[in-house]
Amino acid sequence: DTSHNPSMPWFGMDIGGSLCKLVYFEPKEILRGESATELETIRNIRRYLTKNSAYGKTGHRDMHLQMENVKIRGIMGTLHFIRFPTCEMRNFLSLAKYKGMAKLVSTVSATGGGAYKFEEDFKREVNLKLAKFDEFDSLLTGIHYIDRNNPSECYYWTDATDESKCAKVNYDFSSPYPFLIVNIGSGVSVLAVYSATNYKRISGTSLGGGTFLGLCCLLTGCNTFEEAIGLAAEGDNRNVDKLVRDIYGGDYERFGLPGDLVASSFGQMNSKERRSKVSKQDLAKATLVTITNNIGSIARMCALQERIDRVVFIGNFLRVNPIAMKLLAYAMDYWSNGTMKALFLEHEGYFGAVGCLLQFHE
Ligand code: ADP
Repeated sequence: DTSHNPSMPWFGMDIGGSLCKLVYFEPKEILRGESATELETIRNIRRYLTKNSAYGKTGHRDMHLQMENVKIRGIMGTLHFIRFPTCEMRNFLSLAKYKGMAKLVSTVSATGGGAYKFEEDFKREVNLKLAKFDEFDSLLTGIHYIDRNNPSECYYWTDATDESKCAKVNYDFSSPYPFLIVNIGSGVSVLAVYSATNYKRISGTSLGGGTFLGLCCLLTGCNTFEEAIGLAAEGDNRNVDKLVRDIYGGDYERFGLPGDLVASSFGQMNSKERRSKVSKQDLAKATLVTITNNIGSIARMCALQERIDRVVFIGNFLRVNPIAMKLLAYAMDYWSNGTMKALFLEHEGYFGAVGCLLQFHE
């Protein structure tokens, strides 16, 4: 029975510290109920969202993530995935107003800190009420839904340190419990998940994706995440970090520490001479390696403490970032002697937004 469904269009928003994630459900057919002018506006909004892939100067639709023929509340349709920087919220609201949103829906479901921070602005600018949902409940709901609907959602990396052999391999996540979620957004949260409804937040760190980008901008003068990742891809952190071999002249065999292991992140940068030789690329790579390995190490300790061996890494820090994913894959495998596995999900940053769209009832 679809007659109790909330009125169209259906959105889920996850308003984070860096990025706002917007998920839009496009029904196969626009149904019953709405008046002629409402239908006209609904069609206009659908056309605008689905015929473009860029919105304003900073909004993007991730077309490669689009999901066709999915069912929500008994209705078939397509899920679209859109993001823009949270600092552009005012422009987003003006655009939504211009497209007639104010005349249409009265409530949008939202999660993330911005659902609280911007609540007044939504009301004032577009006369929209926010139905607020907890971000971790939403995250879990979203992960379960997307994983059920996309057989190739979950994957891992093989031979993470060998560029010639390294490959992405599909992972069957149909009986997932228990598992750990490491959500790398602006900051990091670690959740232990025991069943579809039983989970707890066990740890976190403020050294996250926001730290990587912030430090990278300071150290290299870059301005975007894409630029930072591009620089890191061409750099060598060994010109910045102090390795075990820089201290021991080789491996520290007694405790199994290989010579090429980082002993001190940024440990070479106290030397004026070393500083004068270092490149932007090296600094970007060292920042990426520092932040990623720290997260990997926290994840491993959490997994050990909870006696969990599957660790799912998500969050937009992993967007266009195979370097970080491979580092995590390698570190989890190496330091656990192969007993722990790093897993990844294709819709990396969008689970919270999907989950709150699904939880919405009018
Ligand atoms: P939050 O909910 O805290 O905004 P996200 O999961 O959206 O967290 O991840 C935000 C992080 O993703 C940023 O700190 C940055 O490291 C990374 N990132 C990836 N793509 C972008 C982008 N286009 N703009 C800004 N940050 C990005």
